[in-house]
Amino acid sequence: MGLLRREAADYQTQDLGCVKCKQVASGHLRTLCGLCGGALVNTRRPEAAVRRLTVYRNLAAFHGMEVLGEVAGWLLGEAPGEGGEGGDGGR
Ligand SMILES: [Zn+2]
Repeated sequence: MGLLRREAADYQTQDLGCVKCKQVASGHLRTLCGLCGGALVNTRRPEAAVRRLTVYRNLAAFHGMEVLGEVAGWLLGEAPGEGGEGGDGGR
């Protein structure tokens, strides 16, 4: 679980960059730039992390580790009962 938690932290603390002023907002889980209000986009592609999480999930399924599988699936955005895409966890 320790490895997965570190993966999750790495996955969620990606560098975000403003599309307008190019300000880098690292470490803040926000969607808008604090300076100009422009949208923030990931400056680092999460594809590698997604691939690793997929491996974890498959391993978890193979070994019957339900919790690990659930966490990995949740990080991959496959959690059941989560309505809508994108801005969850705002208010
Ligand atoms: Zn900005």
